[in-house]
Amino acid sequence: MFDLKGKVAIVTGGNGGIGLGIARGLAAAGARVVVAARNRDKSAAAVAELTQLGAGGALTIDVDVTREDSVATLFRSAGERCGRLDVLVNNAGMNIRKSPQALSLPEWRTVLDTNLTSAYLCSHAAHPLLKQSGHGKVINIGSMLSIFGAGFAPAYAASKGGIVQFTKACASAWARDNIQVNAILPGWIDTELTRNARSEVPGLHESVLKRTPAGRWGDIDDFRGIAVFLASSASDFVTGATITVDGGYSIQG
Ligand code: NDP
Repeated sequence: MFDLKGKVAIVTGGNGGIGLGIARGLAAAGARVVVAARNRDKSAAAVAELTQLGAGGALTIDVDVTREDSVATLFRSAGERCGRLDVLVNNAGMNIRKSPQALSLPEWRTVLDTNLTSAYLCSHAAHPLLKQSGHGKVINIGSMLSIFGAGFAPAYAASKGGIVQFTKACASAWARDNIQVNAILPGWIDTELTRNARSEVPGLHESVLKRTPAGRWGDIDDFRGIAVFLASSASDFVTGATITVDGGYSIQG
């Protein structure tokens, strides 16, 4: 049920952080993983690691998910090199931490393009390949800010709220194509992204520890299991769902 042998998965931002955790899970379950990101050194290191982990192999294809032409090249190249596509993980993301009144329009657009428009571009490009596979899976990455507000992250919160509604729209549209589309909402996870946040937002580290019932920050390997579940036939009747992976952060007042 959880076997991904013979399947091909594209993970945007799969060269580090949560994307790498997801890629590790998919590779260990047997999938061939395409690491799609910009930093070639990080991508090469990720591919070397993933190749050791699973029998399916791994490869990297450069992409800037904010650019339509780059996304088109990614999916054309993945189709040619792998012959099929079964799983798309829309994980690439970033944040610019400023109050709404301080955030400029270019900054707003950068965050929305990277976190939300990218998911549209990749899903749009992936649809024919996923449909052709006969059983496609799309996994979108939201955030606690898909649910809660935060004065220091207006564009990020808007993008992650949008991810949840975009997930439901695609899930409705593609159910008859046997494509399931779900979102993971991570809690506070130790990655490059949050290392910056911890230095920029005073008291963040302690407040996360205090509010998280599990009593710790998340690790990228906490995403291996949920990724395999949502990429495999184990989740064939699960679609349009948002699943928190947060150590209980969102259940505490
Ligand atoms: P990282 O900064 O560690 O990783 C971000 C990844 O996105 C990198 O692999 C980066 O690769 C890639 N990326 C960024 N911009 C682009 C782009 N324009 N084109 C292609 N790839 C891009 O962050 P996280 O692992 O923490 O974040 C991953 C996802 O999880 C994001 O969507 C984030 O919003 C979400 N998230 C993270 C949480 C956390 O606590 N860490 C909590 C909730 C959600 P490269 O630079 O090589 O392109």
